[in-house]
Amino acid sequence: MFIFDSHTHCQYSSDAVSDLEGMCRFAIENGIDGFAVTDHCDGNWHDRPFETKRRESVAKEVRAMQEKYRGRLKITLGIELAQQDFNPDVTNHLVQEFESQNGDFLIGSMHRAGMYRDFSVIDFDLIDFNTLFEMYYHQMLTTAKLNHLDVLAHMTYPLRYAPKDVLDNLDMRTIDDIADEIFKVLIQNGKGIELNISGLRQAYGDTFPKQNYIKRFKELGGEIITIGSDSHVNTEVAKFFDRGVEIVKAAGFDYYCYFEQRKPVFVPFDK
Ligand SMILES: [Zn+2]
Ligand SMILES: [Zn+2]
Repeated sequence: MFIFDSHTHCQYSSDAVSDLEGMCRFAIENGIDGFAVTDHCDGNWHDRPFETKRRESVAKEVRAMQEKYRGRLKITLGIELAQQDFNPDVTNHLVQEFESQNGDFLIGSMHRAGMYRDFSVIDFDLIDFNTLFEMYYHQMLTTAKLNHLDVLAHMTYPLRYAPKDVLDNLDMRTIDDIADEIFKVLIQNGKGIELNISGLRQAYGDTFPKQNYIKRFKELGGEIITIGSDSHVNTEVAKFFDRGVEIVKAAGFDYYCYFEQRKPVFVPFDK
């Protein structure tokens, strides 16, 4: 089966230690057919002075690697445009910039709730997690409605960083209605969701979101599903992709998707 990882970060994401050339070599050596480079761009820090240059550098390097590995590896230009609700004008601007670069794949995501810090660095002792988690879902709904994305990524991102006691006491039913609403908006707009498999190699031990949400998305009529490792290190590219495939299959899909030129490509599981 064609293996395409739709969520990776290279050296242009400040939190990644990968390098694009090394990722390409790792992919080829490990039978991975392709990946999307989806470096970070959070709507709330778009105007850091180095950001525009950085995005230009990613695009340039992706083009160079496409040329170098043509016929051996499919590399697409993506972006992870997070916090889109922070300032819709800024988001519009960033989307237009990405379009002018002829980008292939736009991931929409959320890393924080309101003005709180990114869940990766938040102090869980100082917050009421359930309140923030609900807030996070309401903002995801806003993001879905803005309709500047191909897929909505890692819908349960805050759980990646939540300590065990928080996870043990979490009642997911509090967000189920709003998750349904998000799915309906995405489906109506012909958009998809991501099965983020990073949690399989992390302490969390499961996907973001878990399989039951992929199944629910399908039940409501969802058709577009991508699989992403969210790799930040060369050797994480497509890590546990096979398990991701199993989860998507068990949720009722007989294919998964990746994007080229902002259009979904369907990869059947029997190939
Ligand atoms: Zn993310
Ligand atoms: Zn990411």
